[in-house]
Amino acid sequence: MSAILGRLEEWRDYQPGEWVARCPAHDDGKPSLWINLKTSGMVGLACRAGCAFEDIVAGMGLLPRNLFNVDAEGLVAVAEARPEPVSPYLTAGLRVWLDGLPAGEPDAAPAVAYAQKRFGLSSAEQARLDLRWWSGPQPCPDWVPTSFVRYPRLVVPMLDFAGVARGAQGRDLSGRCPVRWISLANPDGFEWQRYGVFPGPDPDGPWVIAEGLSDPLAVVADGFNAVGVRGAALLNKDPVTLDALAAGLADKDVRVCGDNDRSGLAFAQTILAALHERGVPARRLTLPAGFKDYAVWREKR
Ligand SMILES: [Zn+2]
Repeated sequence: MSAILGRLEEWRDYQPGEWVARCPAHDDGKPSLWINLKTSGMVGLACRAGCAFEDIVAGMGLLPRNLFNVDAEGLVAVAEARPEPVSPYLTAGLRVWLDGLPAGEPDAAPAVAYAQKRFGLSSAEQARLDLRWWSGPQPCPDWVPTSFVRYPRLVVPMLDFAGVARGAQGRDLSGRCPVRWISLANPDGFEWQRYGVFPGPDPDGPWVIAEGLSDPLAVVADGFNAVGVRGAALLNKDPVTLDALAAGLADKDVRVCGDNDRSGLAFAQTILAALHERGVPARRLTLPAGFKDYAVWREKR
């Protein structure tokens, strides 16, 4: 770290793990460059005048890879900043975008037909879950990835336990997109919700926690309540999501149903342990052998 700072003019301490210096990428009269060192060994650079990261690194005579695995040499490093849950501004923007997408018959007929055939959801259930259809070409907010808008999709809002959409995923309806389900892109410093609540007809009935969004939709079609979790592999490092699941399901009859494979077992074990730790009794729902996941089981049984 001292060698990196040594390449900058007039660098000085700002606070532990953070420094300021003159920016090497523009004619900087005062120290405009802000530098930090994260516990992961990554050095962060930001110029208040807006210089590009590449230009700053080049101005220091370094390559981007020189800013990783940096030895703190006894200096304090700052903890990695965790993204915040999406702000009210973003959830409002998501609501407006969702409301602009067609839903139900006849406006969203292709999406309705798909959700009926693939997951077994009736029109009434689809309306309750607020499923929608993306077919373009209207402009989208910048947190809707270009890969998302390229193909027609069934759009599935991911609600919190209060019924507020705090994320969404889109399922490809063309069969041509290399990625079947695509999430919204996380806006800088924020993270869309990692789970979605899919209420069935009776909130006091069983709740099934499953991976992704296909399985929860099939669970609802079977008359139960469901919660779908995306990015299941990272769940054990995400106490915010686990806390939210435990709080939302505190007095419910909860079953956890991962995919019928090794990662699905790990998913179930992580959630069960987290729920038990938080005082929520929950049991594992095991699928019969030979079925990949709940949605496949529902389709074939
Ligand atoms: Zn600069």
